[in-house]
Amino acid sequence: MIIKLKKDIGEAKANELGKELQAFVLKQDSSFILVTPTKLKEVDEKYKPLVAESFVFNDDIQLASKKFIPHTREIKVGNEISIGGKTNNTVVITGPCSVESEEQIEQSAQFCKKLGVKILRAGAFKPRTSPYSFQGMGIDGLKLLDKMRSKYGLKIISEVRDSTHVQDIIQYSDIVQIGAKSMYDHGILKACAKINKPVLLKRGFGTTLQEFVQSAEFILSGGNENVILCERGIRTFETKTRFTLDLCGVAWLKEHTNLPIILDPSHAIGYAYGVPDLTRACMAMGCDGLLIETHPNPAVAKSDASQQLNFDQFTNLYESLKPIAKAVGKNII
Ligand code: PEP
Ligand code: MN
Repeated sequence: MIIKLKKDIGEAKANELGKELQAFVLKQDSSFILVTPTKLKEVDEKYKPLVAESFVFNDDIQLASKKFIPHTREIKVGNEISIGGKTNNTVVITGPCSVESEEQIEQSAQFCKKLGVKILRAGAFKPRTSPYSFQGMGIDGLKLLDKMRSKYGLKIISEVRDSTHVQDIIQYSDIVQIGAKSMYDHGILKACAKINKPVLLKRGFGTTLQEFVQSAEFILSGGNENVILCERGIRTFETKTRFTLDLCGVAWLKEHTNLPIILDPSHAIGYAYGVPDLTRACMAMGCDGLLIETHPNPAVAKSDASQQLNFDQFTNLYESLKPIAKAVGKNII
């Protein structure tokens, strides 16, 4: 249950009530809210004089639920970029899977700048399936991203692979990405709850929508309101494509949650040939953002080589998204 306390109830009283009800105590706008275990369905008579409003839930999707906030939350990346809320924006994010060298990431940054893409993606800490694969440049990669950020005025999204990197990722980037394989890492989730930068939470490829949104609840209930969901494909019985992009799931998330949704067709299909069509399908769904891997020379990429678009392919795709965005009432930013 979420209990919104009256505006004149201060922090000390809110914390006292929070203890009694085993609730998370959060500040929202200018009042405190208590997020109790879901099994609580009624406000006790003795608390009623303190309560402005209450919301009852039948499962553990509470803060992310449309029953609590009936519209998509607006999330800001710096002062200039906004998604969700009343914006109708679809933010396009592109860049390589991994930062590999200064030359490679600079070519990517220049490409973003030329096309008008405002957010550059690239991993510095890579969560690979094999210990023998490229693990990323680590902190040196983050510093290169930071350099591109100031040189080209771009925003940066980069992935946190374990909770000890959270502070570095915040320092050198603007959005913290939690990868599919980390969706259940409670150390990362709880560390990301304590920051106020936007967090892009990817859906684990073997998880249900309920489990996915509950992971988002860990971040929200710990105090970070800036959570963006990312569908990037789930594992099904199909083996011809890398994963299966769950667009039905996206429709469900849009209907039932108040979090913006970014779609990642690159990791879903796993092959560059299918990325443009799939991206157009995502755009047609009216998503809040698109995350697409591009590389100056995909054939030599150190990770995810088969799915990255080259710059010409991405430019054609980007142009083709514009009429689709218009048809569904979205602005590409
Ligand atoms: C990535 O974005 O490069 C990545 C590793 O994605 P995912 O966590 O979805 O596999
Ligand atoms: Mn990748």
